[in-house]
Amino acid sequence: MSSKWVYLFEEVDEAERHVGGEWEKVRALLGGKGANLADMTRIGVPVPPGFTVTTEACNAYLAAGEQLPEGMWEEELDALKAVEEKTGKRLGDPEKPLLVSCRSGAKFSMPGMMDTVLNIGLNDETAKGMIELTEDERFVYDAYRRLVQLFGSVVLDIPDEPFEQALDELKKGLGVSSDTDLAADDWKQLTATFKRIVKKHKGFDFPQDPYEQLKLATEAVFKSWNGRRAVDYRNAAGIDHDLGTGVNIVTMVFGNIGWDSGTGVAFTRDPATGEKILYGDYLLNAQGEDVVAGIRNTKNIDEMGSDLPEAYAEFLKICDRLEHHYREMQDVEFTVEQKKLWMLQTRDGKRTAKAAIKIAVDMANEGLISREEAVMRVKPSDVDTLMHPQFDLKAKAQATGEGKLLAKGVNASPGAAVGIAAFDADLAEGWGKAGKDVVMVRPFTKPDDVHGMIAAKGILTSEGGATSHAAVVARQFGRPCVVGASDVVIDLEERQMTANGVVVKEGEWISIDGGTGEAFVGQIPTVSPSFDEETDLITLLSWADEFRRLEVWANADYPRDATRARSFGAQGIGLCRTEHMFFEEERLPIVQRMIVAKSEEEREKSLDELLPFQRSDFEGIFKAMDGLPVIIRLIDPPLHEFMPDERGLLEQIIEKRVKKETKDLAELEELLAAVEGMHESNPMMGMRGVRLSIMMPGIVKMQVRAIFEAACNMAKQGVVVKPEVMIPLTGHVNELKAIQPQLVETARQVMTEKGIEIEYKFGTMIEIPRAAITGDEIASVAEFFSFGTNDLTQMAFGYSRDDAEARFLLEYVERGILPENPFQTIDRDGVGELMKMAVEKGRAARPDLEVGICGEHGGDPSSIEFCHLIDQNYVSCSPFRVPVARLAAAHAALHHKK
Ligand code: PEP
Ligand code: MG
Repeated sequence: MSSKWVYLFEEVDEAERHVGGEWEKVRALLGGKGANLADMTRIGVPVPPGFTVTTEACNAYLAAGEQLPEGMWEEELDALKAVEEKTGKRLGDPEKPLLVSCRSGAKFSMPGMMDTVLNIGLNDETAKGMIELTEDERFVYDAYRRLVQLFGSVVLDIPDEPFEQALDELKKGLGVSSDTDLAADDWKQLTATFKRIVKKHKGFDFPQDPYEQLKLATEAVFKSWNGRRAVDYRNAAGIDHDLGTGVNIVTMVFGNIGWDSGTGVAFTRDPATGEKILYGDYLLNAQGEDVVAGIRNTKNIDEMGSDLPEAYAEFLKICDRLEHHYREMQDVEFTVEQKKLWMLQTRDGKRTAKAAIKIAVDMANEGLISREEAVMRVKPSDVDTLMHPQFDLKAKAQATGEGKLLAKGVNASPGAAVGIAAFDADLAEGWGKAGKDVVMVRPFTKPDDVHGMIAAKGILTSEGGATSHAAVVARQFGRPCVVGASDVVIDLEERQMTANGVVVKEGEWISIDGGTGEAFVGQIPTVSPSFDEETDLITLLSWADEFRRLEVWANADYPRDATRARSFGAQGIGLCRTEHMFFEEERLPIVQRMIVAKSEEEREKSLDELLPFQRSDFEGIFKAMDGLPVIIRLIDPPLHEFMPDERGLLEQIIEKRVKKETKDLAELEELLAAVEGMHESNPMMGMRGVRLSIMMPGIVKMQVRAIFEAACNMAKQGVVVKPEVMIPLTGHVNELKAIQPQLVETARQVMTEKGIEIEYKFGTMIEIPRAAITGDEIASVAEFFSFGTNDLTQMAFGYSRDDAEARFLLEYVERGILPENPFQTIDRDGVGELMKMAVEKGRAARPDLEVGICGEHGGDPSSIEFCHLIDQNYVSCSPFRVPVARLAAAHAALHHKK
């Protein structure tokens, strides 16, 4: 255990040696603030003399049941002596009193979460000395009452209210409203009142001994590490509880000691836009809190150039120096005391997503950091934020304050959407086509709601989770979406919803935030970005592309989505869900006829009718993806999804029977019988995927024919086509053996008919644990694997992907039963192990096996890292997540660089 508990700011080299040279460890030992104060001292930046009591001392103190570790106080006194020598002042000396602040500072900044005491060293005697020195009684008593107040609340645990109340009463009595209206005598009187408050609450006097003040303040800062606010903040920010805080004892400098003094805060670049301009506020003749509290109107930092020219010139130089030293945008605090500039703090500045990207790119271009560092500095979530319209944060906070927050659900697809509520897809589409902004609201969505979702600006559902239909489709189309907002009660009869005591009727405005899962009544203003205009993002991603190994493909069902995905940088289509094409208006009746056909002939006829539609869809996609691979998945969902709802049909029939209408009755009855015949207790585990293909091969043969006719037609026009046909939901290799040869045969036939040979592959999705476990057998037939992690997660956990989040899953995560929602982030220990096994076994049987992922996890940064680690070839995600995935794939590669 270390015997050195205290480091002077000048002793940073020693601290560095003590921890073995690593700067991060110095930050852990001295806290971020202390480490940087010491570091600034080392490079010659003017910092008021001081020292840091280490985080180790804090931890030792707390571990020993709030006992100062042996030797610590003596070291603190020695350090104080050094500071006294440097400043020529002494603690408690009535003639030349030294005043110090006692400030907390943990490894990671926890703004405002722990305690600070200012003006330690003032007492009745030194106050008099200070008055003689400064000839400013008002200033001295203002400082003294601040010490009594802070010491009272922070160290002695007296509530703030009696102090605040006393100040208010004094002002009221004098008929003034601002602190600046108070004179020397008023502050003096208040100091006396504050001392009485201490006596009343504690039964003893405010300590006059400056050493006692210092000792107790140090202990109070140690204890504040375990204060409620600090603990809550660490829980929310994911900061370890065992780091401890450092305590910084710093010579006080005063910005409120006349008009040649001042104080301010600044960022070395604009934290909102990232622009390279000094950005900050300051005040003349003021204290730090005055700037932050906003009691007085602050001045723009460049005005300091005329107010305090020398100090300003030095400040500019220091800011530039600090940026070069830390190679990061800095957030600094400073004070000018009688023209002399002092730096009180520097740290890496917080910034918006846009600024984060611009600063990283600019700094790389300025040669301050490498491109690799620039790429690593931007978070995938920053890119995500930039890809979607956002609410104006102030307006959102205001709306919340006004009780307009309706409910909170799952944040399924990010971005802000504002529109009038439409309670069904047809209306959403109708209003959308009429140029209205619509938010579609449903209990949940089904494939035949897609047209409404596309026409809508956003989607809100009261049921379902992160991989529910609504969520998947919304992400695919880049629509902001909130699902599973279970406090929203939708009344489809009355065409209204109720939540948080508010009734929203169809046609009334609502706003949803898909990034946070919030839904509001009313219109909240948004700001919207456009990818082409995000030149810094485009540059950053082009650098990311140089570092990543994983390719990034996209899930796209329509040519326009493929085109968009490509413009965002997609290198292929990893999933084209063909069934969405079946739902379009003119096609659905044909699909239904095909399903209920009584003979093979009848079915063939409907399939022949569908073929040209599918062919032209595929032609569009091949054209859009010229030169790149396109994976087309054969039909997957159970057929009943294409049929009318059973209850609706029954109601129609009953109505006709009651009204004795015979028109269409027989057809409806037949349809009902067919729908009833398709009923399955568990359709997600029923006749779908490859099982359906085996039982009804006509549909997939038609699809394969359409794919190859389209591919050959396009190839003849000079388009480079690379079709990959994907068979869904395989569980046993024999399923592939039963169907794949027939499909390969169809493909060959088409190529012979068209007189052209094209490159192609047949492969399968890995969505069933058994398929993963028997990956070697599966790969003996399949030429590629694509992990359908939505189903694989559903089947591995045995959780219904449509219901789990609404019922228990979110609570599981909240209570820590599961670390994360496995439908959003791959569960590496379970699902991930299955994937790993599938890759290893698959590649053992077929070394050049292409492996990708097309479940929703393909756009999730942590899941992308896992895909990198198990050596997949690509990830595929919705077009709007392609930029995020490009960055995340680069992070994975750089992070795990061999
Ligand atoms: C999957 O299961 O992960 C998948 C991509 O297929 P779907 O979501 O269409 O079932
Ligand atoms: Mg699936």
